[in-house]
Amino acid sequence: MVDLREMLARLNAQTVRFDVGQGGGAPSLTTSDVAAALGMVPAGLGREVMEAVYLPDGAIRHRGKLAEAVLAIVRPEFTRRARALAEAEDDLSFSKEMVGLSRRSPSDAQRRILRDREAAVALAREQAWPKNTYQHLSRMVAAVVLELTSGNRCPACLGAGIVNDMGCKDCRCTGIEPTPDRRRALTIDCDPSDYAKRWKAVFEWLLAEMHQAGEIAACQFARVLSEHEPRRGA
Ligand SMILES: [Zn+2]
Repeated sequence: MVDLREMLARLNAQTVRFDVGQGGGAPSLTTSDVAAALGMVPAGLGREVMEAVYLPDGAIRHRGKLAEAVLAIVRPEFTRRARALAEAEDDLSFSKEMVGLSRRSPSDAQRRILRDREAAVALAREQAWPKNTYQHLSRMVAAVVLELTSGNRCPACLGAGIVNDMGCKDCRCTGIEPTPDRRRALTIDCDPSDYAKRWKAVFEWLLAEMHQAGEIAACQFARVLSEHEPRRGA
């Protein structure tokens, strides 16, 4: 497996001189090989994430196109959740009206329906994203890119899982940051309690989607590069 970060670093103007052989007569890839391979990764969210995460200055240079690609996946998701809430509310008010029309007190079945519909509204409300999601998106995307670039290593053991030859208590030796919520809240400039209530779900959805899309693009990029390498050596 090639080192994607190093490969993509060759595309940076300052490091173009990298493209000399790596010694030992091993076949090496040139800058134009790397650029061509990158060109074969389908355009879209994955490629934008990969470039933002791996390319030096990528986060800054790709901000605009990345924001567009993110908006394209956020919009249908935001709309789907908002519609689910509107429909659940509509169902509830319809059922209340129907029950209200009957002259007798509500039957057990009617009560059950009302209870179910109220629960459905509560659930949909919980899952709906804040109305001002679009306005907060660019800060969240920047925070996700930062996290994908630097990883979420446990700050106590720096990802090693061990502190002073003892298992790290903070992360239980996993090396993964145990409670990233506070850091995430501060990175997106948001009060931690507000983050937990309103933004955590959106952020985690975004992180998962961007991470997955970026990984798929990175695999495609690595595959194109590895197909390229032996041919040059032959
Ligand atoms: Zn740790």
